[in-house]
Amino acid sequence: MEGCGVFYCMKRITLFIFLITLAGCSQHPLVRETRILMDTFAEISCFDADKDKAIKAMDEAFKEMKRIEKVFSKFDEKSEISRINKSAGLEEVSTTEEVIGLIERSIYYSKISDGAFDITIAPLMEIWGFVHKNNFIPDKKTIEEALKKVSYENIVLDTQRLTIHFLHKDTKIDLGGIAKGYAVDRAKEVFLSYGIKNCLINLGGNIFALDSAPGNRNWHIGIRDPKDKNKILKTLYLKGQAVSTSGNYERFVVLDGKRYSHIISPVTGMPVQGIMSVTVVADSGELADALSTAIFVMQEKKTLEFIKSIKGIEVLIVKEDGKKIEYP
Ligand code: AMP
Ligand code: MG
Repeated sequence: MEGCGVFYCMKRITLFIFLITLAGCSQHPLVRETRILMDTFAEISCFDADKDKAIKAMDEAFKEMKRIEKVFSKFDEKSEISRINKSAGLEEVSTTEEVIGLIERSIYYSKISDGAFDITIAPLMEIWGFVHKNNFIPDKKTIEEALKKVSYENIVLDTQRLTIHFLHKDTKIDLGGIAKGYAVDRAKEVFLSYGIKNCLINLGGNIFALDSAPGNRNWHIGIRDPKDKNKILKTLYLKGQAVSTSGNYERFVVLDGKRYSHIISPVTGMPVQGIMSVTVVADSGELADALSTAIFVMQEKKTLEFIKSIKGIEVLIVKEDGKKIEYP
């Protein structure tokens, strides 16, 4: 595991859920496929009387998620995000309505989470070895230098002219904490456009459970116990809802024999310690994804107040010491 980076660890990703509903239960055939997308596994399960239509919709949904990966990936040099990261610190960059929209909503999540969620985390991801492998812990000065570049307040958007500009020349953005949730929302829309409702989309622990499971029932989704992957910690009953889990145990780097999580505090510049996983149920994949990352970063004192301020969400937090916090 020495120097284990995000790439190396991907094989270990076992997804955060067990799917319980699929066993038996429908006259409609099950169509199910897994592909590798956004550096993780994407799995779609779908029931429909018209199998050919379901296969077509599924292929289109995977293609839509692939398209989103190409736009938002920080690893793809040709992506829109890479293009912005190269130039927006120096000059105003024109981009698309979709990109401006997701960045604008990301800034909103930063504001409501008091800066816990922050897509300008990129310079910190770099120094901690999540972009190119590092084999050393960054020193205090390096962290302080990186922190100067990190603040959502450094992002200036013109939503009319569709431009973006960074106030610090070395600010960079990383939408890894929200893009998967956004992608499952878009994939869900593809199924709805085909009139397919019995469908579940899972992109590396970011799930949208469409209107219903077969027979108009809720989907039963088991959240794994991060301490024992064979155990289910909690079963969720979802219908037309999303769930997202942020965990410290699937993606991390090992430096000097210690594990560092891929979720970093924009305040201290340090990978977050003490939390194993945060699961959030919300109406959209994007919201669940942004909130699970934000809550992972938040200090416990602030967390409950924050969770209560957002209508209709459910949250499960598992701490390293085994303590569980559940809301409601
Ligand atoms: P998730 O698994 O959704 O919690 O997202 C984790 C990913 O979000 C990381 O791999 C980074 O790309 C990015 N990230 C890390 N820390 C933060 C943060 N404080 N705010 C927003 N995104 C972050
Ligand atoms: Mg997230």
